[in-house]
Amino acid sequence: MIPVVKTIDEIRKYVKEWRGAGMSVGLVPTMGYLHEGHKSLIDRAVRENDRVVVSDFVNPTQFGPNEDLEAYPRDIERDAALCESAGAAVIFNPEPDEMYDNALTTVSVDKITKVLCGKTRPTHFAGVCTVVSKLFNIVKPDRAYFGQKDAQQLCVVRKMVKDLNFDIEIVGCPIVREEDGLAKSSRNTYLSAEERKAALCLSRSLKLGRELIAGGQDSAAAVKDAVRKEIEKEPLARVDYVEAVNADTLEEAEKTDAPLLVAVAVYIGKTRLIDNFIIE
Ligand code: AMP
Repeated sequence: MIPVVKTIDEIRKYVKEWRGAGMSVGLVPTMGYLHEGHKSLIDRAVRENDRVVVSDFVNPTQFGPNEDLEAYPRDIERDAALCESAGAAVIFNPEPDEMYDNALTTVSVDKITKVLCGKTRPTHFAGVCTVVSKLFNIVKPDRAYFGQKDAQQLCVVRKMVKDLNFDIEIVGCPIVREEDGLAKSSRNTYLSAEERKAALCLSRSLKLGRELIAGGQDSAAAVKDAVRKEIEKEPLARVDYVEAVNADTLEEAEKTDAPLLVAVAVYIGKTRLIDNFIIE
């Protein structure tokens, strides 16, 4: 069975041994409760590196005070089976105390963390940047894999890596969806059967937005308006945001020219879901 490592010292020993043998190392940071979306990142990492570390850590510092830290689903045994079948070498599954031993240091990225999800989750990206920096320093991977599902996170991590000169290649991976279009997410487990149906309004509205742009709509405001109206047809949905921004700078877009990120966050009941598409 794949080793599930709890301490920083132990994971460093694995990596040191691989490095000594001249092997390359890939890292897939996750919060666990793994699904096909995570697996697509692990598969790619396994293809591109000699050894792959999957971190499986529900990072408390990226949750706000009234968010779902306690409720967040966890199943390390199932995760281990998925990682093993995908060909990962080891899982890093520390406890919060192992990661945050009276820490006083945080890493934060300005400006691009204040828009989109940053508006409703003002402390989220500092938590993400801090834990990702720590994972980078602990594992020292050649490459790290992130999903476009969290498009803003990917953008923020790329900026952090550039600004702080981390010698790590950041690999972005496409969104994996359920057959009916819902983007896979560990948080989908919160949805009742009725909410699960309602949640399709995210992917449906984005499909509509994409079609409008393909059909020649060049006004970002018109696309946002159509996407929002489509979501608002669903009685169980409450829009957090519908945005169209430059995919690199996250600055508000007026036109729909590439690189464009159209992103939504929607509450379905109490569950906050996100989805997006990018025009490259
Ligand atoms: P999480 O465990 O939710 O923090 O996600 C860990 C990584 O998996 C992040 O880089 C996510 O963007 C990525 N991820 C989550 N869901 C999907 C998905 N449906 N498709 C592709 N990547 C995903």
